[in-house]
Amino acid sequence: MKLLLRTSPDSKGRKSYTFFHSSVSKAVETCFLSDYAKRMAYVIRLADYYEFTCTDPETVTAELPLLLQQCKLYDRLVKFLRKDERGISLPPHIRYKYLKELRCTMPCSDGFMRQPLLICNFCAMRTGAFGQMFQNGNSCVICGQVVMAMGKEGFLCQRHYRFGVSDCFICKAMVFQTPRPKQGVLCHMCGILPRCAALNV
Ligand SMILES: [Zn+2]
Ligand SMILES: [Zn+2]
Ligand SMILES: [Zn+2]
Repeated sequence: MKLLLRTSPDSKGRKSYTFFHSSVSKAVETCFLSDYAKRMAYVIRLADYYEFTCTDPETVTAELPLLLQQCKLYDRLVKFLRKDERGISLPPHIRYKYLKELRCTMPCSDGFMRQPLLICNFCAMRTGAFGQMFQNGNSCVICGQVVMAMGKEGFLCQRHYRFGVSDCFICKAMVFQTPRPKQGVLCHMCGILPRCAALNV
């Protein structure tokens, strides 16, 4: 195998191995990775390596989200993007790119069965629920971008709200109408589609 490999430094000067010709990587791919289940098993191993073993945060940030998306480990992907320091360091438009794929497809414009997406006053004042530094009440409930102007109010479809019960989107505690709870907002990118603001994970 050594004969087929070449080493070159990556952006940080570390040795990285690649096949010396693309026809070799093609052949390896055809022989060992054409079976979907087998391929995914390797992708999961790579994702596990980056998430739990790799010690370089920048490399993890660059490699892990795509791997988690490829092997459909959506729960881990959302947690990484919103709760893991390495994922939080990604800019909102990248987080948006991954999270928009997971968004519920149910229409939520006026006239459809919907309920306002509510955030209790306690959670609204806190930060970080969507992987952001700003207050939850002023941040996009999908990508976490701060919403100044041009934001839209968030709604949930009938699959994502509990009928007859108003609960906080973040802490799930019941919310009461006084003091008035905050309605979660969507940024100008996530607000374009008049759809339910929950993620299917
Ligand atoms: Zn957004
Ligand atoms: Zn929904
Ligand atoms: Zn809450």
